Amino acid sequence: MSQTTKTLFQRIIDRELPASFVHEDEHCVVIKDINPGAPLHLLVVPRKPIARLIDTTAEDQALLGHLLLVANKVARDAGHGEAYRIAINNGAAAGQSVFHLHLHVLAGRPLKWPPG
Ligand code: 5GP
Repeated sequence: MSQTTKTLFQRIIDRELPASFVHEDEHCVVIKDINPGAPLHLLVVPRKPIARLIDTTAEDQALLGHLLLVANKVARDAGHGEAYRIAINNGAAAGQSVFHLHLHVLAGRPLKWPPG
C-alpha cells in the first residue's frame, strides 16, 4: 500500500506517525486517543485496514472477536474492568472521522446513555 493511500491509523501502525501504544499483537494495536473524551480513552485498531464496521464480512469474525477481547484486556489492565464503554462509529453521520475500523474504549468518568 503506498503512503498516499494509507489511513492515518495505518501510518501509526507502520510507525510513520507517533502514538502512545499500550498494546500490540499480530492482529491489532491499541493506542491512546490524541483527544481523549474520558480519563481512559483508547483505540483498538486492527492491522487489517477495514474502513468501517459495515465493511466487515464473515471472514473477519475471529478478528472482531479478538478486538473485543483486547478491549476487555486493556480496560481491565487500566483498572477499569468494572465500568467501561466500547464504541464504534460507523460512517461520518455517526461520528466516524478516521476510515480505518477502530473500537473506542472509554472509562474513568460517568458515561451517560444514550451518547450524544
Ligand atoms: P472516530 O471519530 O473515527 O470514531 O474516531 C477517531 C478518533 O481518532 C478520535 O477520537 C480522534 O481523537 C482520534 N485521533 C485522530 N487523529 C489521531 C492521531 O493522530 N493520533 C491518535 N492517537 N488519535 C487520533
